[in-house]
Amino acid sequence: AQERYASIREKPAVTVDGHTISLVMNAGLMADLPSLEHSGAEGVGLFRTELQFLIRSQMPKRSELVAQYTRVMDAAKGKPVVFRTLDIGSDKVLPYMKHLAEPNPALGWRAIRVGLDKPGVLRMQLQALIRASNGRPLTIMFPFVAQFEEYRAARAEVDKAIARETRLGHPLPETLKVGAMLETPSLAFAPQKFFEEVDFISIGGNDLKQFFFAADRENELVRRRYDTLNVSFLSFIERIVERCAISDTPLSFCGEDAGRPVEAMCLAAMGMRTLSMRPASIGPVKSLLLRADLGELRKIILNARHRGAQSVRPSVMEWLRQQA
Ligand code: PEP
Ligand code: MG
Repeated sequence: AQERYASIREKPAVTVDGHTISLVMNAGLMADLPSLEHSGAEGVGLFRTELQFLIRSQMPKRSELVAQYTRVMDAAKGKPVVFRTLDIGSDKVLPYMKHLAEPNPALGWRAIRVGLDKPGVLRMQLQALIRASNGRPLTIMFPFVAQFEEYRAARAEVDKAIARETRLGHPLPETLKVGAMLETPSLAFAPQKFFEEVDFISIGGNDLKQFFFAADRENELVRRRYDTLNVSFLSFIERIVERCAISDTPLSFCGEDAGRPVEAMCLAAMGMRTLSMRPASIGPVKSLLLRADLGELRKIILNARHRGAQSVRPSVMEWLRQQA
């Protein structure tokens, strides 16, 4: 399948009406990294660090993490990598870490909540990332930030780690960006100051959608009930785009929907300019974007919304058929 898209691999994803969409990939294991070259991804938009923790039987040592992150950055050969700090809890439980049974794990003690309440592992991870960067640029992202204060507290941990490395005389990252994942609707309504302080935001569409519609992403009974192209969800995405634009905050989308060509195209029409997806999706998504007029598509979407449609999908599919 990758071969089919070989001819557009090195091409940037520029739409018919001249918008450039940056296509990056999701990764989590060393085995994913060769895809950086095969797929034509411009970088790693989401490196899920918990995967390396999940495949082990005991807590890794800091030196092991330094070695792992060094290999990731080496393999990226200067392409940017966004390291997401440990996103555990809910569906991802570490067998060697004490975890309480929770009535509602998806709404429970997970991700940055664990990182802030029991900061030992987060601190070790931040130190390891700074050491692995070893004077190269470093980008860190916190999962599941639900309010401004959580971002501030997590960022303070980064500052502390930097101060410590400075005292030890270790090389510091050439540049450092610290971002937040927007996975709960609450963060979209944070004070504008949050959008000014954060270096970038990435929408975790899988979680955001489950909380927006209150429909468990793991539950087959409701998982597919609500369309990503539902007008309410797209309006919400548009609102986030607008809030980021006010303070020039870089914004990306890294849920599974970024890798579905029609969904990706509609997200771009709502203003998303960076999409992070599984490597095999880059070719198909790019192929559709190269043929898309986002301005026209946006009109189709706004029109469907104006008419009171529940999902814009039928209108968008009809529009695509007319062009074929
Ligand atoms: C998401 O929630 O969309 C996301 C990218 O994170 P994960 O799927 O790992 O929860
Ligand atoms: Mg998530």
